Amino acid sequence: MAKTDKPAQKPQKPLPVKAPAKVEKGKDNHGLGVTAKKAEDMPEWYAQTVLKAEMAEYSNVKGCMIIRPYGYSVWENIQAYFNSRIKALGVKNAYFPLFIPEVFFKKEASHAAGFKPEVAWIANTMESGERLAVRPTSEAMICDSFSRWIRSHRDLPMRLNQWCNVVRWETEATKLFLRSREFLWQEGHCAYATREEAEKETLLMLAEYATLCEGLLALPVIMGKKTPKETFAGAVYSTTIESFMPDGKALQCGTSHYLGENFAKSFEIKYMGKDEQEHYAHTTSWGISTRLIGAMVMMHGDDKGLVLPPRIAPTQAVIVPIILGDPEKILARAKQVASQLKDMDIVLDDRDEYTPGWKYSDWEMRGVPVRIEIGPKDVEKDQVVLVRRDTGEKQFVKTAEIKKALEKLLEDIQQNLYKRAKAFMDAHVTITPDWNNLLTAISNKRMAKAQWCGEHACEEEIKAKTEGVSSRCIPFDQPKITGNCVHCNKKAKVWVLFGRAY
Ligand SMILES: [Zn+2]
Repeated sequence: MAKTDKPAQKPQKPLPVKAPAKVEKGKDNHGLGVTAKKAEDMPEWYAQTVLKAEMAEYSNVKGCMIIRPYGYSVWENIQAYFNSRIKALGVKNAYFPLFIPEVFFKKEASHAAGFKPEVAWIANTMESGERLAVRPTSEAMICDSFSRWIRSHRDLPMRLNQWCNVVRWETEATKLFLRSREFLWQEGHCAYATREEAEKETLLMLAEYATLCEGLLALPVIMGKKTPKETFAGAVYSTTIESFMPDGKALQCGTSHYLGENFAKSFEIKYMGKDEQEHYAHTTSWGISTRLIGAMVMMHGDDKGLVLPPRIAPTQAVIVPIILGDPEKILARAKQVASQLKDMDIVLDDRDEYTPGWKYSDWEMRGVPVRIEIGPKDVEKDQVVLVRRDTGEKQFVKTAEIKKALEKLLEDIQQNLYKRAKAFMDAHVTITPDWNNLLTAISNKRMAKAQWCGEHACEEEIKAKTEGVSSRCIPFDQPKITGNCVHCNKKAKVWVLFGRAY
């Protein structure tokens, strides 16, 4: 396969899922791509899409996934974007050990209790005989370092980020990108002198996550605060961005926690203030993971496979020459078009062992946003055909104008995917004052927004008597309180979004 330059972000030469049948353009390519229908069997559709598009696969190690180059390049694009954002804000990257001594882990009691069921311990111990946990998150490890590195108000704020893997010993079935025992993420950890600064940072990072989801992945989200029961173990409060998937489940896309002085007190993170008194630091932590890739696949994909938003797609467009008549002439034109687009992420698929129709299906399955077709008639008319992956619409463009037209089309696709997803989410929120209506809405694959009392006992009861219904968040966007709690009928304090979640 000929490629334009910038090979670093290109997928490997695609291997066919099955031996390619010689299928002609316009004929049904049955058996080649995704066979499950998204609307009929979402889990099967999702698994086939991720596997056949070569994003990831199951590992021999139960609960773990193999992220293949195509899937990993999406993660690299997320990393590149987010690194540039946080570095501009003054956050520095660092790396801490995978193993956490038990004594560290136990220091913040509610944190330790919250993570206890999912911590993996290794068989080897420290020389002291102490057990080592495989990190499920690194507050304990990083706070220990903070306690040594922070002495004076001049050392603050300290703002670090780590890109790494974490392990949470899930017992439920593995879902590639969405649920696995090991996954990749970034975890930011900051220490501040004051509560105000730390709370500001908590919200700033949540807003960054929302911008990433909506701007890069075309994934609309609802920003809010977690209810007490859903709060991160050890945090004063947690903020979250929640998205809504086509199968009717909410998906938490990122969280940002204000940890108050909880960890600072457990780990002795103290600084000498300008007032020459010792104070505890206020810490925050925030994270997003490879699960975002799963959310994006589920949200935008269709029965042909992946649909990737152009800003995150490893390949923005594929040129497929239709070799009929004079192959030299068509290939020469295809190469000319590729060179006109050389500063974009373009692949020229000039493999001669596959028919154009087979290639169309293959690239559609991989979600490449635009296909550029060049056949004998197009060469004659000095034009190319642009085909959008999101709508299937075709447009004819003069060869000289290809770059401008393609850039505009990619932007249109990006906007269209976001708008489509946003309209879908907005159309699936039921606002109700009635508990039974709420349950009906959720069992009809919707989310429900209702007024709630905010009481711990009420939340416990809801969790206990419903199967899998939980509060997703207390949205920041709060309408006026006008009634009583949807569940216990006590005086309502906040509006809460309820739903089933991944
Ligand atoms: Zn209540």
